[in-house]
Amino acid sequence: MTCRRWCLLMAFVIFSMNVPAPAYEGWFSEESRHFTAYFRDPSARAEAEDVLRAAEVFRDRLNQKWKPFRPWSFWRQGGPRCSIYLFQSKRDFLETTRRPSWSRSAAVDAEEKIIALSRDSPTLMRAELPHEIAHLYFRQWLGVSGPVPVWIEEGVALAEEELPADKLDAVLESRIAQRRTIPMKELLERTRLQDLDQNSVALFYAQSRSLVIFLTERFGPSRFLALARLLGRKTPLTSAWQQAFDLPFPGFDGLEDQWLSHLAR
Ligand SMILES: [Zn+2]
Repeated sequence: MTCRRWCLLMAFVIFSMNVPAPAYEGWFSEESRHFTAYFRDPSARAEAEDVLRAAEVFRDRLNQKWKPFRPWSFWRQGGPRCSIYLFQSKRDFLETTRRPSWSRSAAVDAEEKIIALSRDSPTLMRAELPHEIAHLYFRQWLGVSGPVPVWIEEGVALAEEELPADKLDAVLESRIAQRRTIPMKELLERTRLQDLDQNSVALFYAQSRSLVIFLTERFGPSRFLALARLLGRKTPLTSAWQQAFDLPFPGFDGLEDQWLSHLAR
């Protein structure tokens, strides 16, 4: 690992945990064309190779999917390789990264391309791995340095997971029936998830995924991605909406009505 990458990982850990960083020296590694997998225990070598193979497949798939809309900047040549840290367990992952207890994985730094995963998660290969690669890829693809709204980041990454979204769909269905979804203004303006409990995060994920799918189906992927890029450049929502979709923003209530009507079809 380069010193720069090491320092960035440490900086993330230190800033997010506010506690002294653990040592990563002595981790083992395996490489594929675009990724390096790091693991603490040599028994994880075969698993690391599986992760690398799957990561290359997910990367290729994202390339195929988004390249037509912006062919010139994807996963820049000459940039840092993507580092995937395979923690021994969710407990190991949480103790080291101090992420919220509902978290199982993280995309740490979009520029340096660092992903942290828990080895013992049964959904690692089909959920967390594609999810976190999508986070890194999407951010780099957009080419914006500022934060992209959380509902877009999570909605796009969730849509790349390979597991059926049955649980999220069930959460959403039940909350819609109870008229207890997150108000659209709150959903669109939320900037962090760390202060939410597990149920609230599940609802946020379910609604974000559903809204991203709705907007992509309603306006097409090209216009949706234009919206994401404009919002990532801090364009106010109403003007970003007008520019991306060539329509005035319908208001938070209007958007909620359109989204719910689309779901009811
Ligand atoms: Zn995510």
